[in-house]
Amino acid sequence: MKSHARVVVIGGGVVGVSTLYHLAHKGWSDVVLVERSELTAGSTWHAAGLLPLFNMSYTVGQLHKYSVDLYKRLQAETGQDVSFHATGNLRLATSRDRLDEYQKYCGTANTIGVPFEIIGPAEVKKLWPLLDLGGADDTAEVIAALYHPQDGHIAPADLTMALRKGARAKRAEIYEQTEVTAVARTPSGEWKLTTTKGEITCEHVVCATGNYARQTGRMFGLSVPAIPVEHQYIVYEESRELKAYRQGGGRELAVMREPDQSYYIREERMGWILGPYEAGAPARFADGVPSWFGKNLFDGDLERLVPHVEGAQRRVPALANCGIKDIVNGPISYTPDGTALIGPAWGLPNVWLNEGHSFGITAAGGAGWQLAEWIVEGEPGIDMLAADPRRFGAYAGKRYVVTKNEETYRNVFTVHYPDEERPDGRPAKTSPVYEKLKRMGAVFGQRYGWERANWFAPAGVAAKDDWSFRRTNWFEHVGNECRRLRERVGVIDLTPFTKHLVRGPGAEAWLDSLVANKVPAKIGRMALSHALTKRGGIRSEFTITKLGEEFFYVVSAGAAERYDSDLLAKRLPRDGSVSLQNITTARGCFVVAGPRSRDVLAKLTDTKLDNESFPWLTGQETEVGLASDVYLLRVNFVGSLGWELHFPIEYANHLFEAIFAAGEEFGIGMAGMRAMESLRMEKSYRMWGSDLTRENTPFEASLDRFVRMKKGEFTGRAALERQLAAGIPNRFVTLDVHGVKDADPLGNEPLFDAKGKMIGRATSGYYGHVLKKSLAIGYVKPEFAEVGTKIAIEILGERKDATVLVDSPYDPENKDLRA
Ligand SMILES: Cc1cc2nc3c(=O)[nH]c(=O)nc-3n(C[C@H](O)[C@H](O)[C@H](O)COP(=O)(O)OP(=O)(O)OC[C@H]3O[C@@H](n4cnc5c(N)ncnc54)[C@H](O)[C@@H]3O)c2cc1C
Repeated sequence: MKSHARVVVIGGGVVGVSTLYHLAHKGWSDVVLVERSELTAGSTWHAAGLLPLFNMSYTVGQLHKYSVDLYKRLQAETGQDVSFHATGNLRLATSRDRLDEYQKYCGTANTIGVPFEIIGPAEVKKLWPLLDLGGADDTAEVIAALYHPQDGHIAPADLTMALRKGARAKRAEIYEQTEVTAVARTPSGEWKLTTTKGEITCEHVVCATGNYARQTGRMFGLSVPAIPVEHQYIVYEESRELKAYRQGGGRELAVMREPDQSYYIREERMGWILGPYEAGAPARFADGVPSWFGKNLFDGDLERLVPHVEGAQRRVPALANCGIKDIVNGPISYTPDGTALIGPAWGLPNVWLNEGHSFGITAAGGAGWQLAEWIVEGEPGIDMLAADPRRFGAYAGKRYVVTKNEETYRNVFTVHYPDEERPDGRPAKTSPVYEKLKRMGAVFGQRYGWERANWFAPAGVAAKDDWSFRRTNWFEHVGNECRRLRERVGVIDLTPFTKHLVRGPGAEAWLDSLVANKVPAKIGRMALSHALTKRGGIRSEFTITKLGEEFFYVVSAGAAERYDSDLLAKRLPRDGSVSLQNITTARGCFVVAGPRSRDVLAKLTDTKLDNESFPWLTGQETEVGLASDVYLLRVNFVGSLGWELHFPIEYANHLFEAIFAAGEEFGIGMAGMRAMESLRMEKSYRMWGSDLTRENTPFEASLDRFVRMKKGEFTGRAALERQLAAGIPNRFVTLDVHGVKDADPLGNEPLFDAKGKMIGRATSGYYGHVLKKSLAIGYVKPEFAEVGTKIAIEILGERKDATVLVDSPYDPENKDLRA
């Protein structure tokens, strides 16, 4: 074995080999893969080989599309047959919600160029003659189906071998029977891996160890939130009916899924493979894979599968006449949200994860492609936030991951509602006023482990979500919360915000080099600032307030805690001139907003709150009620007069009560995240993570006023200069969507010109309760960005007219904010 390589990939499953292949194809030939056993010995060898293009995520959808395209050309490239059967994929719909889900998906598929069709029952029957369309008592009627004509299934081991051939052709090396047993940093900053075949030093390490992700992580001091769950499929004997159909000239049947019965079925040697996603499948190996488990399987548990088998037999009666040949029950890696972990590890330089793959055969191509790009170029080519390992934080410990993974597994086929909030592993992280909010009717959701009130059910209304793709039970109540914040005064608990303190003589210059805006020079000033990628895309959004000499308070999205902390820590100067402190859980945050917010706060503080003493976009350290050391910031994400109170966490209950007592005469009340969503849309406030991503620069996001090209060097500046010279390719718009009855845009809808040509994509959407308009925001080609331009948007399969509105259609001059 070599003693040095530029990259060592640990793990020879399909994902590791794909990463190696892509690194080599990007021109890094000094790359090595080590595998403890033999290639494919993990989960890869026993996978069913399905390649579903279907995925609700914009990011994952792109990865899957890339994979399918790559796999189709691999045989020609490498000479290795991969048994790609482009049978197509058919997903049945037996309810309106299911069809809504498909239509929602189709919007995303459109924006990433995945071919699909929604077909009716007659076409379903034509494609799949052995299927019963149902309608009788015990079998739901097929009302439509989503059909992907171009995907299908592949032989996972052959695929891995083709990728191996392709990687070796570019001089990458693979060592089997070579287990990594320990890791250490060298004094020069490289990684030294101890293996069963000797030591190897490298610049970068990629962990692609499937079921071993936990123990691999432990070697690096990481708690990796990936734990496998049992997954089974049944292999059937030959089917008389299938044989007759095929011998009669029928083409190979599409891989078929009946999500409402939670199974997939495909042909296998004139018989079938049936794979249910059942309740009760246990997580395995939470503490690591035991040494007795090699290229093994678990015993089959048919009992768990019976309801799904019965459902499948009703849909495909031929199944009932077939004997069972085998049950394959293997570990399948999962993460709490079901998406893999692809990207940098937190806190460590040059350690990369490609772990937690539950659809790893499908995802391997795309995951290897983007990770290689990230390693070689320093940036992924697409927005990878949804797969970034740093989207989870320390809260995703063993028990949380076990319970969430089991929940995610049994929900693979349930309808994925846009506002769905699953119950397991909750409540975990709560604000100190959680119980108070609960008593006030809060209906909670969970983000980054935090319980956040989404809306408040008034007395007599059930505090429960009725999920839908359309307006549903909370619509009216969210509307009332919105009006409260525009007409009177309301409170939002934003305790989960990510909060850092940055101090020291080098603080200002360092922050300035990190973001595109000018960091405030005057004490009390605040600046909305964006950390960009080298390509000029928006990586992070920070509200930076200068609270004292050499002292900055840096706030960012709650879900970005590890993601932003990692950026700040990795970029911190090593000369001791700047200190960084993550105080996320040491401070709570309440937003007090609405025209009467000043009256409320004036009762609690001596700090003068008039415009002259406390202008918009400034902050002061002050006392509020009995709480000292409160950072009072005149800013908010709803666009009404208001302040954010960032207070030492121990004052949460006191301040909450004091604010409500002071606000009673003004009709104060709570508002939740859904009201905030509606209100921020009315102000065209872009949300980090959905509207602001690596995919777009601040110029495309029309955030020009937050970019100071002349201030000196900052990350992304050169790319912005190039974009200015070449022309801005997209522009941010706010849209008034006409003719909406009950399905508002929610983001990921395609946008079209009058001739039906796609011209952009909505990144968010919601009903603006105060403007009484259905709103979308997103990006279009610049020629469509003029106010008044008429375009179209597709919502759940229906084209709607839309008009480009002025930026910030509610109070465009910010009179409320400056009131
Ligand atoms: C029954 C079943 C059916 C499935 N069907 C499908 C399907 O139809 N479609 C689909 O897309 N996905 C399917 N999957 C999921 C798929 O199998 C996995 O997502 C995929 O194989 C993951 O590949 P991987 O490379 O990440 O992990 P693995 O294939 O598990 O590879 C990890 C490798 O790392 C090696 N390793 C671990 N630790 C070390 C170390 N310290 N040093 C060296 N090497 C190490 C292991 O030996 C192993 O070979 C299925 C899974 C199961 C269980």
